[in-house]
Amino acid sequence: MLATLLERGKDLHSNMQEWRRDLHQYPEIAYEEHRTSQKVAAQLRQLGLEVHTGIGETGVVGILKGKQAADRHLALRADMDALKLTELNNFAHASCHHGQMHGCGHDGHTAMLLGAATALARHPEFAGTVYFIFQPAEEGERGALRMLEDGLFKRFPIQEIYGMHNWPGLPAGEFAVHSGPVMAAINGFDISITGKGGHGGMPDQVNDPIIIAAQLINAIQTVISRNLSPVHSGVISLTQIQGGSGAYNVIPETVTLRGAIRTFYKADLELIYTRLRTLVEYTAAAFNAKASIKFLDGATATINHPAQAERCYQVVKNLVGADKAHWNPEPSMGAEDFAYFLLERPGAYIWIGNSNSPQSPALHSPYYDFNDEILPLGAAYWVKLVQSLSPLP
Ligand SMILES: [Zn+2]
Ligand SMILES: [Zn+2]
Repeated sequence: MLATLLERGKDLHSNMQEWRRDLHQYPEIAYEEHRTSQKVAAQLRQLGLEVHTGIGETGVVGILKGKQAADRHLALRADMDALKLTELNNFAHASCHHGQMHGCGHDGHTAMLLGAATALARHPEFAGTVYFIFQPAEEGERGALRMLEDGLFKRFPIQEIYGMHNWPGLPAGEFAVHSGPVMAAINGFDISITGKGGHGGMPDQVNDPIIIAAQLINAIQTVISRNLSPVHSGVISLTQIQGGSGAYNVIPETVTLRGAIRTFYKADLELIYTRLRTLVEYTAAAFNAKASIKFLDGATATINHPAQAERCYQVVKNLVGADKAHWNPEPSMGAEDFAYFLLERPGAYIWIGNSNSPQSPALHSPYYDFNDEILPLGAAYWVKLVQSLSPLP
């Protein structure tokens, strides 16, 4: 199919590369993807698709009916947003928007899905309906949730949904599919410790919150190592500590700590919440101080549905061969808001290899760039997936 896709339109690879580099040059962050979504909508309309815009602010949905009418409604999703990151690349298509960069490859995801829409619109050899979903604000801003709140699954009778992310750790030409957990949940927290500030030379007159913070930081290390099941994965990272005014001789009144928890299972997250609450409250109490912890809603874990993951695996195995199709490698502790779609509909989210060398920059690196060579492979995966899920009778 890859060969066929390329033969039928050598132009398609160069079109995808052109779209991708244009998006890379003009990146737009969460809910500001106005130029991007206009470009996407214009391209989909040119293909003759029914197009809906403004879903979840800047989200776009394109609808394509197959040759054969059938009660089969599949959704393919790409994300469109850039990162708040200053690009350090110097090539011609480097970002023109200072402080904004396609450092996660969503430019490539958008181009591959547009490529698949083009190929399928030219040759709609499938039964049922395909919904091309271009989502805003994946990077920590819950664009998926916003599209759902805006009625995505009520307005369109989507039965299954599929996603794909490029993966710099995986060689170009390869895929990875997980049955079950792919990406972790992330939930932030803020801890506030209040002691009694005063003179640095008179520690007996104060209640030093820095000492309490130090005890707490150590105690928090036991939550994963001593409370979580040793066969489950979890991470608690303290990422900020603030206390004091800059003076060498003043013990502060308060210290705040901030961090994030990453887990795959809800029960693990609840256990961690309980342990953190207890440690915060009682560590402070043991030092005659007060402390509180506030948990922030983050992203839920991305858990593939086994039957749909199995189907994706068969498709990538046929596309690139068993040696280049990886089944159930280690999941990532990164987060992905495609997770919210999978809470409501069966589906799967897979990785496509992006690397040509071991030195290739990681996701979110200021030197990252999506690998244009994989554009036809990604588009071919989408096409093959549609044809396998909704074969003509
Ligand atoms: Zn990212
Ligand atoms: Zn991403």
